[in-house]
Amino acid sequence: MVRRCIYCGTETDLSKSDIIPDALTNGKIINPNVCRVAHNNKFSDMFEDEVISKLAFITNELDIKSSKGNQYARYAANVIVDGTEYTTKMNADTDLFNKKIMRSVDGKSLIGPMDKIKKMKGIDYGKVTETDINQIEIEKKVSIDMGVFFGQKIHRLAAKIAFEWYCLNNNVTSKLSAFESVIEFIITGEGTDPVQIIGKEDIYGLINQMSDLGNHSLFSYVAGDGSVNVLVSLFGIVIYNVRICDSIIPECPYNAMFLTINLDAKKTGFKSVSKKALEQELQKGFQQVGMFNGFQVMCPCNINDNSMTCKMLYFLSSVYDANLPFNDESAEELIVVIKKHLNKVLNISALTIRGLKRFVNEHKGNIEKGIVFNPYGTNMKAIFTFYLIFATGIAENQIHSFEDLSEFVRTKFAGKEIAISEELCNILQKEMMESEHYSDIIKEGAKSIEEMRFD
Ligand SMILES: [Zn+2]
Repeated sequence: MVRRCIYCGTETDLSKSDIIPDALTNGKIINPNVCRVAHNNKFSDMFEDEVISKLAFITNELDIKSSKGNQYARYAANVIVDGTEYTTKMNADTDLFNKKIMRSVDGKSLIGPMDKIKKMKGIDYGKVTETDINQIEIEKKVSIDMGVFFGQKIHRLAAKIAFEWYCLNNNVTSKLSAFESVIEFIITGEGTDPVQIIGKEDIYGLINQMSDLGNHSLFSYVAGDGSVNVLVSLFGIVIYNVRICDSIIPECPYNAMFLTINLDAKKTGFKSVSKKALEQELQKGFQQVGMFNGFQVMCPCNINDNSMTCKMLYFLSSVYDANLPFNDESAEELIVVIKKHLNKVLNISALTIRGLKRFVNEHKGNIEKGIVFNPYGTNMKAIFTFYLIFATGIAENQIHSFEDLSEFVRTKFAGKEIAISEELCNILQKEMMESEHYSDIIKEGAKSIEEMRFD
């Protein structure tokens, strides 16, 4: 059978489209039925690049690297050193001061490596002072343009992701007329906008139960009015509902599907024809292993099937098929919802193996010299991450793998979600500083983390 572009129907020059742009995820999913120029490359300029650059701080914090440049995204930030505020575009906290010269917001001061400052013309050496830069003391202010979550461009991106994923799973290999409306919106930005931002907390609750914070998730369902929809959750921060078409079409039998991609690129999901079919799969997936006080005891047949929980949650919930996608929250209320998830996601990001390895790598020089903490440190995430390295370095803790470390964190902080607060960081920093050889312990911990492997 001839394969054609799902947007325009051409047979020529098909290419592999990254369903979720490469710069937004560590784990690829690909739709091979998209023509190269008009409906793959051009989308970058039309809407993808702008969204990607506005989300740069989030992808950077979550340790997502674009495979093209093989580097973390740069983002705009203000940093405060000794009471003076400087504006910069940055990549990593540690390369702030050793690469370039920054100008202060008031225009009166410059800061940078001494050798570079000395090479500048017209410098009055009497006014140059040396500052000891301790990463942990630097206060960093990043403002995220919340408008990015509401713009037409992110709607087009969400619609593109939903549409290409839905087509991939239903083996769509040509342009179908039922999708005309969603296609028009993706490729021109005109026509009826099929995308709505979700404000309902129970939908976020459901997706967050089926995935981890920081994941991208896709969730297809048939709504109460018979329409086919896909929920697109970006990082667990914001969820969009995309209406794919008005009713189920014969070419697309699969309508109860789920996929989640975590920050270490692992994927979990399932694909089922309908909620009813999923129910039958669930029944087959369990076997009776005995009776207990008159109750049947059921066990999953395949304990390695980690999609089982997702299937159960999908089946048991009905929040999505009743009155979605309509919501009555105002833009202000939606911003509150998104900000709340954003803060949670940025807090957990230290807890991926990718994040830890990157941190160790970026702070390698200081760790080898011997970390000296400033008791008035303000960079909470850095303190928390140093604490994880410190804990790994203590031999009695027996932390040899990322699983060991996760287990330690679960026990120590009692729970999956950790609020990195100033209070907590003060306690952790004190605990480290009370230990006599803490810089050696951190050195040991860093060595172990460098040796840990992704599974
Ligand atoms: Zn095309």
